[in-house]
Amino acid sequence: MFKILIIGNSSVGKTSFLFRYADDSFTPAFVSTVGIDFKVKTIYRNDKRIKLQIWDTGSTPARQGGAGILQAITCPPLAASYRSTQIKTYSWDNAQVLLVGNKCDMEDERVVSSERGRQLADHLGFEFFEASAKDNINVKQTFERLVDVICEKMSESLDTADPAVTGAKQGPQLSDQQVPPHQDCAC
Ligand code: GDP
Ligand code: MG
Repeated sequence: MFKILIIGNSSVGKTSFLFRYADDSFTPAFVSTVGIDFKVKTIYRNDKRIKLQIWDTGSTPARQGGAGILQAITCPPLAASYRSTQIKTYSWDNAQVLLVGNKCDMEDERVVSSERGRQLADHLGFEFFEASAKDNINVKQTFERLVDVICEKMSESLDTADPAVTGAKQGPQLSDQQVPPHQDCAC
């Protein structure tokens, strides 16, 4: 089982992203996360059955885990570097991370160009996806790529007997509240 965290500021679409992937549903209204900490989805990759436990709220990483730092293309990506530092600071070395620009259906309200998103991801050392939970663009692909990256990393670690696989450190919870507030953006 892999534990995957969807990390990002409020209203970038974390819950929507999770619901789209796990239930293939979308609601345009605010999705309440009360009572839902995570969803489980089982997938088959490379002849292996993999159970994903996907959290859309702050949580501690697991031994074999990954994270999607979710941004919305309609908001300045001010928190991405902060989130990346958060992950590194908590010695979450073995987590694989992708950067996602959600809401790519909202082209008229775009404030982050694809180019800028990609540059930011390159700078942070992550792969980059633009996606839309609403229009179901790249959601499945994002999760599948993350799973593949985790699998690749695991087999590398096994080859080199990397201690990250045998003893992950646990960091504090990563919550929405740990990011400094933005002044000119709702997310
Ligand atoms: P969270 O706070 O990060 O969990 O964000 P939510 O999932 O609650 O989404 C916040 C708002 O953005 C809701 O009104 C969603 O319907 C909307 N939303 C989420 N994803 C998308 C998307 O891909 N496209 C559009 N147009 N709206 C989205
Ligand atoms: Mg939510």
